Amino acid sequence: MIQLNQDIKYLQGVGPKRAELLNKELGIKTVGDLLTYYPYKYVDKSKIYKISEINGNMPYIQLKGEILSADMVGEGRGRRFVARFSDGTGVVELVWFQGVKYIKSNYSTHVPYLVFGKPNVFGGRVNIAHPEIEPLSNNSDNPNGKSVGDVPFAPAYNTTEKMKKSGLNSHALHKLTQTMLELFDQPFPETLPSYLLERYHFISYDSAIRNIHYPTDARILREAQARLKFEELFYVQLNLLRYMRERIRKYKGVVCAKVGANFNDFYFNHLKFELTGAQKRVVREIHADMKSGRQMNRLLQGDVGAGKTLVALMASLIAIDNGCQACIMAPTEILAEQHLQTLRHQLGDLPIRVELLTGSVKGKKRSKILTDLQSGEINILIGTHAIIEDNVLFQKLGLAIIDEQHRFGVAQRAKLWGKNETPPHILVMTATPIPRTLAMTLYGDLDVSVIDELPPGRKPISTIHMFDATRHQLYNKVRKEIEQGRQAYIVYPLIKESEKIDLKNLEDGYEQICKEFPECNVGKVHGKMKPAEKEVEMQKFANSETQILVATTVIEVGVNVPNASVMVIENAERFGLSQLHQLRGRVGRGADQSYCILVTKYEIASETRKRIQIMVDSTDGFEIAEQDLKLRGPGDLEGTQQSGMAFDLKIANIAKDGQILQLARDAASYVLDNDPQQNLPQNDILWARLRELRKNIIDWGVIS
Ligand code: ADP
Ligand code: MG
Repeated sequence: MIQLNQDIKYLQGVGPKRAELLNKELGIKTVGDLLTYYPYKYVDKSKIYKISEINGNMPYIQLKGEILSADMVGEGRGRRFVARFSDGTGVVELVWFQGVKYIKSNYSTHVPYLVFGKPNVFGGRVNIAHPEIEPLSNNSDNPNGKSVGDVPFAPAYNTTEKMKKSGLNSHALHKLTQTMLELFDQPFPETLPSYLLERYHFISYDSAIRNIHYPTDARILREAQARLKFEELFYVQLNLLRYMRERIRKYKGVVCAKVGANFNDFYFNHLKFELTGAQKRVVREIHADMKSGRQMNRLLQGDVGAGKTLVALMASLIAIDNGCQACIMAPTEILAEQHLQTLRHQLGDLPIRVELLTGSVKGKKRSKILTDLQSGEINILIGTHAIIEDNVLFQKLGLAIIDEQHRFGVAQRAKLWGKNETPPHILVMTATPIPRTLAMTLYGDLDVSVIDELPPGRKPISTIHMFDATRHQLYNKVRKEIEQGRQAYIVYPLIKESEKIDLKNLEDGYEQICKEFPECNVGKVHGKMKPAEKEVEMQKFANSETQILVATTVIEVGVNVPNASVMVIENAERFGLSQLHQLRGRVGRGADQSYCILVTKYEIASETRKRIQIMVDSTDGFEIAEQDLKLRGPGDLEGTQQSGMAFDLKIANIAKDGQILQLARDAASYVLDNDPQQNLPQNDILWARLRELRKNIIDWGVIS
């Protein structure tokens, strides 16, 4: 009997060398790690093809036959081992460039083999490079007496190039898991209470884990997948919901019951427009939280331009009217400064002092702000990460607002909690709408408010896809808008990995624009410029001193220049959908028709074409986010990597398993409803398992 925590090195067929590879390449250290290293797909090996049936575009297939002859051929890097393989209906060449030594000393002619691989047809000849090959009846190198051919659904495991070079390919991993499963001659202990298994008709853990690696038929494979996905999501949800309920029970909130003089003065005398119905509802939801005596932890979702800033200001006024301070954290200095100006402008002559704290605020100015903050003379502090530094002390912080939240890590959010004796109310505002399933996992412990209505009078932005080659049309469009007194953004990608090339593209583009529009002033901003320089350029654009702004995505979030009516995005194929939506949201902020022009080469992948089409067809941020998640999967979504939470998911997929996720959340609620004290014996198994899981996931603790 082996143990789950046993070093993988001691598993039969591993040894120190392979153990090191498994560890370094896949993070597999113990037998248990291997057990939960699940296949990423399954290949149907139930059918055996005839060589005469092979044609040019077949997927992976299986053949049965014999090796007629084999030899080394070619020179230098092209040197390879080639075996002529036949089943009586034809001949294929099996080719190895790597691992030659092993195959050369282990093959025999004229014994039956099963061969599995992807055939290539080349001038009438068929070859299969690096096939899997197994003797049909000879089990000498397989202690378990089972060969590849026994499995109708052969699992495929992800491995790396390095591993493949050392013979640790998918097939080898399959053999290891097989060995491991055979060694566990007792059933694996159950990890969910039986009443949950019954309630949702799930198979046992033992059956699931064995069948995920070694499915005997398609149905049991589906059941194994469902059970393991559920379990994974269930523990994420249980952790989140338990934490949420505990927090509600444990943490008192700063009581902000009063709707006072400042709020009313602002609402009745300073507000330049009527709030939308959605804004009113959201302000009421926030106020209800703030007066409840419990700490608010609320996520505010709203599409670009929905008017989240105003909601943030009104929530701040509620805090201030109740003797508290508020702070707003933004991800960039540009945004923080813009918030400062917006708020000061909107507050007019109200006796509210708003100050800015960023990395660029230094010396005397900084120490004055810190002093006035601590004495309570500053009512609202706006800033970047600088706000969470330890020496930034408030007199009484009642509300902390995090704008464009995905750029803040979990740990940073947690730091805000410590800024007041009673933890401040937290309002997280997302720049980009998040699909429901993702929100449930990432922010599953937050209450959610949604602004699902745009301020009246906005004309939907018209989105156009144009090709590089028809650039003159593009310039005509831009010129027409500028002649009417409007302004244009031209955005270039700037990705760290190709920074130099990207910067050159931007510089070239800038020069071209200057030549093309000699009558215009053209500005330029990118992330490599000093904050002060960027600020100057942004300011010029905001004041209409420049008519065209050539920029990178530094302008992506939040920047507000209502007179701009054209957004040109160069190399649009290189941006994510959510990013494109954010960028597009920089125009259409005035009453006139605005345009977003997505420029790509003529030849683009069909997937890219799909993404561009989604942008052309829809201006609904929530819909776009859903589509983005579907197309790219959660791993690639901006900001999810740093979330450090649910994305170590090994089998569930947030984009595809929405239904199971909902089930998991319901189940977690059900458990907590029935066992609020967490002391029912049938749930012991749950809490033990949760403790075990939490050991490995550092960030699972405090997430808001
Ligand atoms: P976002 O939700 O993207 O942060 P903002 O708060 O920047 O949006 O608001 C976008 C623009 O809409 C701003 O110019 C703001 O003044 C304006 N705005 C906000 N609420 C309303 C409203 N109820 N009626 C009209 N304009 C509004
Ligand atoms: Mg905003």
